[in-house]
Amino acid sequence: MHEVVVNLHMHTRYSDGSGLHRDIAQAAFSAGVDVVIVTDHNVLVQGFEGYYKEKKKKVLMLIGEEVHNQARDPQKNHLLVFGSSRELATFAENPQLLINQVRDAGGLAFLAHPDDPEAKAFKETDISWEDWSVQNYTGIELWNALSELKTVVPSMLHGAFYAFFPALVAHQPIPATIERWDELLAQGRRIVAIGGSDAHALHMSLGPISRVIFPYEFHFRTVNTHVILTEALSGDVHKDKKLIYEALAEGHCFIGYDLPAPTKNFRFTAQGKDASVSMGDEIPAKSGVTLQAKIPSLAEIRLLKDGNVIQTWKNQTACTHITTEPGVYRVEVYRRYMGKLRGWIYSNPIYVR
Ligand SMILES: [Zn+2]
Ligand SMILES: [Zn+2]
Repeated sequence: MHEVVVNLHMHTRYSDGSGLHRDIAQAAFSAGVDVVIVTDHNVLVQGFEGYYKEKKKKVLMLIGEEVHNQARDPQKNHLLVFGSSRELATFAENPQLLINQVRDAGGLAFLAHPDDPEAKAFKETDISWEDWSVQNYTGIELWNALSELKTVVPSMLHGAFYAFFPALVAHQPIPATIERWDELLAQGRRIVAIGGSDAHALHMSLGPISRVIFPYEFHFRTVNTHVILTEALSGDVHKDKKLIYEALAEGHCFIGYDLPAPTKNFRFTAQGKDASVSMGDEIPAKSGVTLQAKIPSLAEIRLLKDGNVIQTWKNQTACTHITTEPGVYRVEVYRRYMGKLRGWIYSNPIYVR
């Protein structure tokens, strides 16, 4: 098992972000993430994919894109596309056709910020995912740091406040998105959850105050997708890219909010009579399954079956649950930070069939 910390979903000057790819690499060195996936709007930027090195630090930069129909009003249905061999923005008009094209081009498709409310004070419209009839996508962006910010800024003043105290923003994924995910899983579908930063490193001015709000480096220390690989990264871009995207496609990953405390080394596994599996995998219910979660430091662990909490462990670093009941099992971990109980870790499910 080799875990890599991936920060994904971010924008540069090739779309509406303020930074360059080298700024992102620099921020990744400082924050200590292993991999970044840059996704500018409607353009698959060429020439930046690869390893960036500085002294003993190294980061793998992968390039995807975020596709949406710019002629649509409001501009809903944003799709994150990773690992596609070609530009696909021309298919933005029809989400299902776009998803099919992504699959055809060997890529992964994640519905970006499924619930992304209006933020009137910033003239930001609601850009939630709307076309829920779509099929055949890889998963959803369960936790998007920017959507969550929109939920806490009723006024410009709130915006300025959070710009100075960004650590107060993140609480948990938007509850409606979690509900939607559980509904999709209940239909028997396998939907991979990822966490994205949607980093733009925007400049904001309010009177005499002007600063870059939510810089890349801050985002890289907050909501990350931790991916569990079958082998260590080799340093070969082509090989490592394949390893990472295969693991993401299988759901061998969890969402970690790394600001309160590092989430690295979280594990959720299941052992049966003849099999031993991890997040994203399936295991037969027959003859019993032992579910186990391990977390890197004391916190509150909740085990959910088909969207409902079935057991809670407080102040623990590990827990075990034995079952013979088929269902979709997943783990949420909470811990106190900045005066509130906040979501810390969201696992992908283990499918007990
Ligand atoms: Zn978007
Ligand atoms: Zn975005």
